Amino acid sequence: MKKRFMMVFLLISALAVLPLYGQEFDPLKSDLTYDFRALAAAADNRGYDVQHYSFDWIFNPAASSVDGWARVRAKSTASALTVLKLDLAGAMVVSRVIQNCQPLTFSQANGSLDITLDRAYSSGQEFEVEIGYQGVPSQNLTFTQHAGQPIVYSLDEPTGARQWFPCHDIPDDKATAEMRITVPGDMMAASNGRLTETAANADGTRTYNWEEGTPIATYLISVAATNYTLLHDTYASASGTMDVVHYVYPELVNQAQEDFNLTVSMIAFFSRVFGEYPFFQEKYGHALIPGGTAMEHQTCTSYPARTVLGTHAYDWLIAHELAHSWWGDYVTCGDWKDIWLNEGFATYSDALWHEEIGGKAGLKARMQQHKDAYLTHQPPEHPIYDPPQGHLFCRIIYQKAAWVLHMLRYVAGDQNFWNILAAYRQRFGGGSALTPDFIAVCEEVSGQSLSWFFSQWIYGSGLPAYEFGWGRLPGSSTVRVVINQVQQDSPLFRMPVELEFVFGDGSTQRETVVVDQARHRFDFSLSQVPIDVHFDPDFWILCRQEPFQKKGKRGS
Ligand SMILES: [Zn+2]
Repeated sequence: MKKRFMMVFLLISALAVLPLYGQEFDPLKSDLTYDFRALAAAADNRGYDVQHYSFDWIFNPAASSVDGWARVRAKSTASALTVLKLDLAGAMVVSRVIQNCQPLTFSQANGSLDITLDRAYSSGQEFEVEIGYQGVPSQNLTFTQHAGQPIVYSLDEPTGARQWFPCHDIPDDKATAEMRITVPGDMMAASNGRLTETAANADGTRTYNWEEGTPIATYLISVAATNYTLLHDTYASASGTMDVVHYVYPELVNQAQEDFNLTVSMIAFFSRVFGEYPFFQEKYGHALIPGGTAMEHQTCTSYPARTVLGTHAYDWLIAHELAHSWWGDYVTCGDWKDIWLNEGFATYSDALWHEEIGGKAGLKARMQQHKDAYLTHQPPEHPIYDPPQGHLFCRIIYQKAAWVLHMLRYVAGDQNFWNILAAYRQRFGGGSALTPDFIAVCEEVSGQSLSWFFSQWIYGSGLPAYEFGWGRLPGSSTVRVVINQVQQDSPLFRMPVELEFVFGDGSTQRETVVVDQARHRFDFSLSQVPIDVHFDPDFWILCRQEPFQKKGKRGS
C-alpha cells in the first residue's frame, strides 16, 4: 500500500549578492604559463641549506639594468659538498665568484650557476661565497614609469627571484636577508624588514639598507623604488608599537590615505585571532606598483596603484595581503603543490575580516561570494593539492580552499579551529609547512581523525550536489527529511549536515545528521510539526543544491 507523502522542496535562498570581485578586475595573481614545477623540482636536494643572503643591488632605470653583488652563506647538508648549485637566469651574467678572498671557478648554463667550492664541506659546515653579476632582467624585475617617473619593482612568485639574483629558489629554504639598494637620488627604495640606514652617494645616487631578520623565502624578497611619498601610521599592542609605512605615489596620496586607513585595525584584528603580527620587530606597509597584481612581500606588500581609489573598494585585498604575513610569509607553503596553505588561508582571512566588521551576516555574504567565484572557475575541476600546470593561482586554490577552511571550522569546532591555527603557527612559524603537516596539527589539536575530510576536500576534487526535501508522514508527527547526493563528477562526500526545524510559534530546533551515502532518509519525532526545515542554516557546507529528480511520491 502506498501512502501519499508531501514533499516540500526548499532551496537555500541566496543572500543578496554584492558584486563579485574579479568581474571587472582581479588583482590576485595571474596563472602561469611556464613550467614552474620543473624549475622547483630541480632546486630540491642540492645538499645545502642557505642561512643568510646579503645583496648589494645598483638599479639603473635608464638602462633597465641591475648590477649585483650577492653573498650567500649556507650550511652543507651533504657528506661532502663540493659544488654549490644556485638558480640564476642567463640574462644575469656572473663576472666573478670569490670565497675567502680567493676566486672560485664557476659555470652558468640552463638557469643554473654552479660554483666549485674551495673544498668539500661535510654536513653542518658553513661556507660563504660572493657573486658579482650584472644584466638586464627579462622578466619579474620590471623597469617602467608612473606619471612620467621611473619605477622599478619585482614580482617573483613562484620562481622569478632567479631572474635577477642568485639564490636557492625554492619556498622551503628560507634565510635571513639584507638588501642594500642603490637607486637614483630622486627615487626611494622599499623592501623587506627594517630600514637600518640610508646614504647619499657622491654620484648622486642613494642607498637604502634593508634588513630582514626573520627567515624569508626567495619569492618574497622584493624591491619597489620610485619617487614615493611616505604615509606613516602606528600599530600599538601589548608588545609595544610598530611602524606602519605606506610607500605611495605622490599623485595618489589622498586616495591612499583613505584606502590604507584601516590597515592598523586589520593588523590588530588578525593579531587578536592569529597571534601577534609575526614581524612586529620590523614593520608593515604597502608599496604601490604598476600592473595588476598585489603581492604579499614580507613586511612590505606590493599593491597595485590602480586599486587605490580612495573608496575602500579593495579593503578585502588589503586584508588578504596582510593575512599572508601569517599564512605565506611567516608560515610558508613548503612546496608549490601546497600553495593553498598560502592562498586559501589568505582568502578565508578576508572573509574573517568581513565577519569582524559585519558579524555572521558579513561572513555569510563573503562566503557566498567566494562560493560564486569558485563555481565559475576556469575548467578543469582539479584537487586543491598539487594543481595542474596553469592553475597555481586559480579559484580552486583561493576560494574553494577558503571554503575548506570554513568547513574545517565547522567540522572541528570553532574553538578547535582557532587552536589549530595557533598551533600551526607556533610549530611552523619562521619556516614552512606541507599539507600533511597542517593535517597533523588539525588532528592533534581537535583530537579527531580528519583524513576523511582532507582526502575529499584537499586531495579529491569537486563538491557534493544535494537534493533536499522534507515532509510529514501522514497520520503521524514524524517528519521525514530526504537528502540525496547526486553529483556525477566526483565520489560521494561525507559531511555532517545541520538541519533547522522552524515551528509555527517561531521557535526552532536543530539536529545534525551525517550524510555520506547517495540516498538518506532521516525521521524525526518532534514535539510540533515544523512549518519549514532549513538545510545547513548557517552556510557551512560548500555544495550545490539540485531539484529532486523524482517528485511527489515514494514507496512506503
Ligand atoms: Zn594571496
